[in-house]
Amino acid sequence: LARERRSTLGRVRSALENGDLSIYYQPQIDLRSNDIRGFEALLRWNREDGVILPGAFLPEIENNDLICDIGRYVLRGAVEQSALWRRLGLASHVSVNIAGRHLQHPEFIDDLKAVIESVPGAHVSDLEIEILETTAINDFERTRDIILRCRALGIRVALDDFGTGYSSLAYLSQLPVQTVKIDRLFVNRMINEERRKAVVQAIINIAGVFGHDVIAEGVETYEQRAALAEMGCHAIQGFYIATPMPEDQVPAWIPG
Ligand code: C2E
Ligand code: MG
Ligand code: MG
Repeated sequence: LARERRSTLGRVRSALENGDLSIYYQPQIDLRSNDIRGFEALLRWNREDGVILPGAFLPEIENNDLICDIGRYVLRGAVEQSALWRRLGLASHVSVNIAGRHLQHPEFIDDLKAVIESVPGAHVSDLEIEILETTAINDFERTRDIILRCRALGIRVALDDFGTGYSSLAYLSQLPVQTVKIDRLFVNRMINEERRKAVVQAIINIAGVFGHDVIAEGVETYEQRAALAEMGCHAIQGFYIATPMPEDQVPAWIPG
């Protein structure tokens, strides 16, 4: 197993060095205005046998510093893309997933500053980072401090996969994030299961109390979209709107 892991690590490192890692973008729609809220940057590994999803290789490298190199690569790519979209007059908000190891790396804040300062036309307000609820809870004080430093730079912070990490209300109330992303586990089957729907409504209500923006992930049907709008959810993301796509497909996808 160790040998297999080493080989995945080596192969992903080569993919990064050879330019075989790329970023797909998935739109988020604001349910109040029907405008594009922004795009989530999602990592892809382009191989001869196809485009490989992060779930197939990220778990094996998240405890290695390679995850920080990948994080810097995605940050830079997404911020460059955002600056380009802004120049073209397109929606330019991008959300980037940050692994726990990278977030807690002593140089993370410097990485952020370096990217923002070195990309021409980059706007700090266009960038949002997504951190997993589980990351936040594992090292609460430290994560809270890093979130505050991001916000001092003007970067938005979202709590990803909310509802999967057993975080208490006390934690949520003390995390200075602006956005909560409801995990697709709850959105999925919400229509047929009243209990799941009640959980989604509760998350939306709590987020409202704390003044957070709420995004529902994994919206696949019109019924889900309609139910979420009725429950007061702010934004949605999911295959019902669009699947993640390479950046060159984005301008053609944009409605109107
Ligand atoms: P995530 O951040 O929660 O991203 C949403 C995932 O849900 C994406 O999977 C997306 O393709 C998928 N998705 C979106 N809409 C739907 C839908 O309607 N139905 C279903 N079934 N799935 C939907 P993806 O791209 O495979 O990424 C999986 C996870 O890998 C992400 O979950 C995120 O935690 C991680 N990840 C992706 N890119 C990066 C990255 O650049 N850095 C780090 N550290 N993690 C990343
Ligand atoms: Mg995410
Ligand atoms: Mg998520």
